[in-house]
Amino acid sequence: MPILWDEGVESVHINSVHIGRAVYCANCEMITDSVGDKCIICGSKSLESIERMLRRQNGYCKIA
Ligand SMILES: [Zn+2]
Repeated sequence: MPILWDEGVESVHINSVHIGRAVYCANCEMITDSVGDKCIICGSKSLESIERMLRRQNGYCKIA
């Protein structure tokens, strides 16, 4: 019989994507680190770089 504490630890998932690689898909509304111009979730080409979005909206500037 599994111990409850062990189950809790196993169920913890941390997903992180570096901002320079993060892309937002306007079709499925997911943020992924899709490589290329297609969303790895839905295959849509409606991808936008998160870094670019932030820079445009907030004057945010990082990463040369
Ligand atoms: Zn998508």
